[in-house]
Amino acid sequence: MRILVTGGAGFLGSHLCDRLLKDGNEVVCMDNYFTGRKQNIKHLLTHPDFEFVRHDVIDPFKFEVDQIYNLACPASPPHYQYNPIKTVKTSVMGAINCLGLAKRVRARVFQASTSEVYGDPKVHPQPESYWGNVNPIGKRSCYDEGKRCAETLFFDYHRENKVDIRVVRIFNTYGPRMHEDDGRVVSNFIIQALRGQNITVYGKGSQTRSFCYVNDLIDGFVKFMGQEKIIGPMNLGNPGEFTMLELAEMTLKLVGGKSKIVFKPLPADDPKQRRPDVSLAKKTIKWKPEVQLEEGLGRTIEYFRGQIK
Ligand code: NAD
Ligand code: UDP
Repeated sequence: MRILVTGGAGFLGSHLCDRLLKDGNEVVCMDNYFTGRKQNIKHLLTHPDFEFVRHDVIDPFKFEVDQIYNLACPASPPHYQYNPIKTVKTSVMGAINCLGLAKRVRARVFQASTSEVYGDPKVHPQPESYWGNVNPIGKRSCYDEGKRCAETLFFDYHRENKVDIRVVRIFNTYGPRMHEDDGRVVSNFIIQALRGQNITVYGKGSQTRSFCYVNDLIDGFVKFMGQEKIIGPMNLGNPGEFTMLELAEMTLKLVGGKSKIVFKPLPADDPKQRRPDVSLAKKTIKWKPEVQLEEGLGRTIEYFRGQIK
């Protein structure tokens, strides 16, 4: 198949391009390099089935493709809050442009949605049926509401125009090729520990997250796109749940060194708890994550050891 990956030079997008090429597909990778990097796809630039197009997803585009994966959107809170209006445009216009193209060329189209659609959840763990608890006017809203609107568009194009959609809600995912200045917690803690700097835990560190290793997630993407039964939304993530203090301690143990844990103010609207209910994915696409946090952290630490000076 010919497959378009928007946001293909980012952390998840570049792993997805690798996997799709490995499976024998042709890949068109589209990215504006806002948070993505040439370095993530450098090894693919000479691949005969790989093509890179520098383009912003908010501007219309045309390609003859069989499938579209829409991943274009900054994912880390500091990056999506840097230009919040642009973040909304990227989610909403990006979704409209991908859906318009999918409708025209009859391609199957995938949306990288997020656990952030559940906001600061009052139901725990979060099943797909939960509608969420989201602040519509806060600092995180540009991302959360942008992604919620994108989901709405996907389901309206499906109902109105029979567009063949797949919507995944991704829970915190980590691994090699995260940007070292990304600002998300796993990369922050690892870099701080490797540099012997203080580990910055926000708030008391009692808030929880569930961390999925990148290869597990990409496997879920491909399984979900390759089946006919279900369009989503579908949670993908690792149900292991950890406090940020536990994550800091595990990172310190694995890296070694002399870093100390320090406490910084908790950002506004920071969700207190998050854990996916993945029973739908288990039942319908026979997917479950294989890599547990300590092992995945170890692999990610090795990657960053080779990266940082
Ligand atoms: P990332 O920041 O590494 O990748 C995003 C990519 O999109 C980058 O390459 C960036 O340059 C590109 N991009 C941003 N705005 C664009 C625009 N207007 N036009 C074209 N390209 C643009 O982040 P990631 O972790 O790889 O996330 C990929 C997708 O998965 C995002 O849509 C994100 O919301 C979603 N997601 C990720 C996680 C996670 O834990 N990694 C969790 C939930 C959802
Ligand atoms: N966090 C932290 N220290 C950091 C970065 C983040 O304690 O240096 C916390 C953050 O407050 C949140 C959790 O880690 O509770 C996950 O943050 P991240 O930005 O990775 O993702 P998200 O909040 O979007 O799940």
